[in-house]
Amino acid sequence: MSPKKTSQVMVKHIFVTGGVTSSLGKGIISASLAKILQARGLKVTIQKFDPYINVDPGTLNPYEHGECYVTDDGAETDLDLGHYERFLNTPTSQANNVTTGRIYQTVINKERAGDYLGKTVQVIPHITDEIKRRMCLLEKGGKYDIIITEIGGTVGDIESLPYLEAIRQLRQELGKANYINLHLTLIPYLRAAGELKTKPTQHSVKELLSIGIQPEVLVCRTENHLTKEMKEKLALFCNVEKNSVIEAIDAETIYDVPLLMLKEKLDLIVLKKLKIKAKKEPDLEYWKDFLGKLKNPTTEVNIGLVGKYNELQDAYKSIHEAFVHAGAENECEVNIIPIHSANLDKGNVKKHLGNLDGVLVAPGFGERGIMGKITAIEYVRENKIPFFGICLGMQCAVVEFARHVLKLRGAASVEVNKNTKDPVICLMDEQKNITAMGGTMRLGAYSCKLKKGSISEKAYQTLEISERHRHRYEFNNDYLKVLEKAGFRATGINKERNLVEIMELKDHPFFLGVQFHPELKSTVENPHPLFASFVRAAIVYNQAGN
Ligand code: GLN
Repeated sequence: MSPKKTSQVMVKHIFVTGGVTSSLGKGIISASLAKILQARGLKVTIQKFDPYINVDPGTLNPYEHGECYVTDDGAETDLDLGHYERFLNTPTSQANNVTTGRIYQTVINKERAGDYLGKTVQVIPHITDEIKRRMCLLEKGGKYDIIITEIGGTVGDIESLPYLEAIRQLRQELGKANYINLHLTLIPYLRAAGELKTKPTQHSVKELLSIGIQPEVLVCRTENHLTKEMKEKLALFCNVEKNSVIEAIDAETIYDVPLLMLKEKLDLIVLKKLKIKAKKEPDLEYWKDFLGKLKNPTTEVNIGLVGKYNELQDAYKSIHEAFVHAGAENECEVNIIPIHSANLDKGNVKKHLGNLDGVLVAPGFGERGIMGKITAIEYVRENKIPFFGICLGMQCAVVEFARHVLKLRGAASVEVNKNTKDPVICLMDEQKNITAMGGTMRLGAYSCKLKKGSISEKAYQTLEISERHRHRYEFNNDYLKVLEKAGFRATGINKERNLVEIMELKDHPFFLGVQFHPELKSTVENPHPLFASFVRAAIVYNQAGN
């Protein structure tokens, strides 16, 4: 099932593999390369192929794989798609993230349907054909000049082998001018010897060669600059052109990497190999301006991030990045102070939150840490500290208000207490009969209408918005009237389903809960308006000498 030319102009492919070790930042390198190609006027997208058997990461605990990112079309995806969107400022979709589980599911469903009648279904060619079909799916519609495909895992892993075999086959099928392999590798520094070492990279390329893949570009992660001699040595041993061995030195921030790659001329190397003419000189003025603001803040605020997965930064990746964008927008350094919700109680809440300029209560699932979140919200509500609750954070704000202001002592979300007398957060009818866990939440983009004069309307500067969701439970409209009467107002509604999406408190400088995930749509070019205004509120709070 070789990919077909969909138009006169062939879409060009760049396959990114990783060697030596995991966590080298393939996602950031892919996004940076895409960014500098986009800055030259090319239409670029990035997709990721993950080697695990889960059909998507939606059923994974954040401790396993970090945050689950959600696209407009409701796909639960790898967090690298967040980087792709934040860098490129263009949306991704289900087609941009494929797992081994999804590939096998498709092939097995076809087998059951009788599509391969009489044949033995095998990894080669059936699984590899399905991989190739999906790798070329985004060619359709002429939307892109270049597709960058990141292969999850590290060369040498058993799980990635079918992907590598598929890209080996694609090399012939796509043709030399339409295909390159970029191999990201590590050049470790041995402190005792005072030397950078190229051997692991040589081995990793050997491993690739043994499966029939010759990398055209080597991107070398390193903490010290590579010498010309080292680059030449790598070129010689790995059969790569000298100018195609480039260094990716450790950066102060991930947002430096596109400029570092530009300096290394990665765009020119790739364009030459793929025989593409750039449409213009790279235009990264906006990016440089953003970096300038990011690195030269004029103010500083401390924001508490109350969550239960705080040991792992990746669990709240998009929230952290949204604060980076919103901080730069406000020329403000946002220090995020992780606060473990399970450790918070009435006795220590002041110690943890008393000196903060704002508190964000994070999304989450299940009962653990809920009481700590409610305690934090009670404290910031009463002490008028800027508050931003996202998804579960918004639900906890409703529970807190119902319990402490409306005096509905047993009020709860039915996620935590099925038998509560006051289910202020409940399960929608359409969720009640669902038993399967994968892909069954309210997922993806939904529209929302804002109330005039609300914090949200002032932030977005419009009345119609669309935001992404990922949750099962909803605000219970039976309690809307009493809550509003007491000053906790619904300021964002999904009209089609009559669902409350935003709650705001009157007589508080900034108290905002949203049922959706605004962090998923914050990009360098478009910092999210709610994060930007939350940071502004924190600056005001700080400057008022609180
Ligand atoms: N657990 C809650 C729900 O499913 C909130 C989910 C979230 O914060 N993403 O509704």
